[in-house]
Amino acid sequence: MRIETRAIHAGRRIDPATGAVALPIHLTSTFERSPEGEYPLGFSYSREQNPVRRALEECLASLEGGKEALAFSSGLAVATAILQGLDPGDHILIADDVYWALRKVVGEVFARSGLETEYVDVTNPDVLRAAMRPNTRLVWVETPSNPLMKITDLAAVAAIAREPGRKAITVCDGTFATPILQHPLECGIDMVAHSTTKYISGHSDVVGGALITKYDNYLFERARKSQRYGGSVPSPFDCWLSLRGIETLPVRVRAHCENATRVAQFLKQHPKVEAVHYPGLPDHPGHPIAARQMSAFGGMLSFQVRGGREDAMKVAARCGLFIRATSLGGTHSLIEHRASVEGPQTRTPQNLLRASIGLEHADDLIADLEQALG
Ligand SMILES: *Cc1c(COP(=O)(O)O)cnc(C)c1O
Repeated sequence: MRIETRAIHAGRRIDPATGAVALPIHLTSTFERSPEGEYPLGFSYSREQNPVRRALEECLASLEGGKEALAFSSGLAVATAILQGLDPGDHILIADDVYWALRKVVGEVFARSGLETEYVDVTNPDVLRAAMRPNTRLVWVETPSNPLMKITDLAAVAAIAREPGRKAITVCDGTFATPILQHPLECGIDMVAHSTTKYISGHSDVVGGALITKYDNYLFERARKSQRYGGSVPSPFDCWLSLRGIETLPVRVRAHCENATRVAQFLKQHPKVEAVHYPGLPDHPGHPIAARQMSAFGGMLSFQVRGGREDAMKVAARCGLFIRATSLGGTHSLIEHRASVEGPQTRTPQNLLRASIGLEHADDLIADLEQALG
């Protein structure tokens, strides 16, 4: 079945006890044993598994075309679970423009784990190939990336990681693209990570994450242990909210893309805008790969205001409809001075604003930006 249909039906079933069409929320920490001491229905304790989480995991696996999925309490809990599965002395390669807080997980949470970490420009296959070592066990990429919307050729990354003698597992953070616009597993990537906080849940009311694998592998099995025994599990209610969001994911993403295209075109011709970063624009450096790898270009963009930090801050301050907030992928349009969020070590230009284009009418969004820039 097509993805629109799977978004509504995968993982769900009519409740056998009541006939309820909407999935019940099983707010229970524990499940009864049979007189024989068994768990005939397969559930024992909600850290290990809960019916709503299982439904979400089945649905996410189906959307990505994967074998199995794990739902986590946040997007960064996914990264944490994967890094916990590595051994001291393992070498890992991470995209140099990876989601900024993943650097914090690596540098601060895993500082004493003995991992050899290298950040490289994964958009350049030659750089990636040269950085691979015999002990490279993980290649972590993110496309489109944050906040310059750089595009990585996933098939090229997968091919390099699979060259003879290599043992690296590839993971793509597909948060910006969602399972609607991009299928990393079909490109040969081994696992996909998502912050379900963003488009997948879609309404700025849940923090969650997911890992989807194409086939059984040791890092996925270790991530499962981290989830179940380490306890980084989402609550049944959060799982329910995510599943409810997923029902409209294909339709929402299409509308986000249409709005973002219009806003990008408006910004592109505005005299006070120095640059617009949106992979849907033909002059974006990643456009040719994005056009091949994605079915549309997403709802995220960033732009550089003529001038410096203060000029960008003023534009954000004058916005009335765009909300000044971090995060993305919800129904409300958000705008953010990214360098402020990322702190003094940021590589993001000071005159850059990142926008998550929501589901308001594009004309209203453009009018708001027009007055803010004016
Ligand atoms: C938000 C985000 C994350 C982190 O997810 P949380 O749910 O906030 O932990 C990871 N990667 C990308 C691309 C994100 O946008």
